[in-house]
Amino acid sequence: MSEKKERIAFFDTKPYDRVWFDQLNRHYHIKYYEHKLTPDSVSLAQGCRAVIPFVNDTLDKTVIDGLCETGVEMIALRCAGYNNVDRQAAAGRIAVTRVPGYSPYAVAEFTMGLLLTLNRKIHKAYFRTRDFNFSLNGLVGFDLHGRTVGVIGTGKIGQIFIRICRGFGMNVVAYDPYPLPDADFPYVSLEELLQQSDIISLHCPLTEQSRHLINADTIAQMKDGVYLLNTSRGMLVESEALLDALKSGKIAGAGLDVYEEETDFFFEDRSDMVKRDTLLSLLVSMPNVVLTSHQAFLTKEALHNIAQVTLENLDAYFKDGTVLNPVQ
Ligand code: NAD
Repeated sequence: MSEKKERIAFFDTKPYDRVWFDQLNRHYHIKYYEHKLTPDSVSLAQGCRAVIPFVNDTLDKTVIDGLCETGVEMIALRCAGYNNVDRQAAAGRIAVTRVPGYSPYAVAEFTMGLLLTLNRKIHKAYFRTRDFNFSLNGLVGFDLHGRTVGVIGTGKIGQIFIRICRGFGMNVVAYDPYPLPDADFPYVSLEELLQQSDIISLHCPLTEQSRHLINADTIAQMKDGVYLLNTSRGMLVESEALLDALKSGKIAGAGLDVYEEETDFFFEDRSDMVKRDTLLSLLVSMPNVVLTSHQAFLTKEALHNIAQVTLENLDAYFKDGTVLNPVQ
């Protein structure tokens, strides 16, 4: 690698990102921008050979064209998901890398946290006792032991979530179009999973096939009083159908770390926003919804690994053009 430090533009920077990149970066002059990468901010990459965007940055054709015109050679995503990338627009023009798995434990453990919070009403108890209200009325949950959890997607995170659930003595059924050959848990069809599960947890990527996987039809096939957990991608769930099911009691509770229209809200303080997204407002106002701001990944270990792998991806490319961890 030459002595000259390559310039890299880092978008949507948060203080917790910088800590690890500053600690591990040796070879690059990183320009940190708080702006998201959008058609309007693409010019900030002028003079840079690579950009480091995050999960809700825009990487559509307009932005990719803009990056290519600016001379950027590489998009080093600092996340696993790449549904925000127009891969066709990038193909053969600009290298795109990602961090395929930085801490599946972080996301799987958080998913169980959402379930425990929802089921045992910890979110309500926390506020009650601060107000010296020590009543237990309305806080009744159920034993997870012996309940059936349906896990949709048995990749890195799904498999760890299954192990955690088994630690609680839960029965597991799983659905994945690409089942593991040596799985020690039973695979069932999606229909069977919907019918059998007391709790359903989504751990699959957002694709054309999985968009709105949870909709009015699939909800109708679920048990009455089911709990739904989504720490994967908001677009997997049709929010209006979810809201209707929460209102009717068909779905007894939802633990959501993602929302289909999250891009304009999540990761930011929007408390002074007057014109709010109606569906999101309704969801967060429901007592049986615990909604967090895409924070399931947020552990020290995950942030360290994200910085390390992103920098390794840059190193490989600038050494000899190798595209490690490609998005294809
Ligand atoms: P992975 O690639 O290891 O596993 C995904 C699994 O989903 C694979 O086994 C795949 O076969 C399966 N799958 C594909 N299409 C499916 C479908 N239509 N129905 C059911 N299963 C399907 O991914 P992972 O590391 O386990 O991550 C899972 C998801 O978690 C990611 O796609 C991402 O959206 C999400 N994620 C969220 C956070 C967060 O902070 N909330 C962080 C990281 C990842």
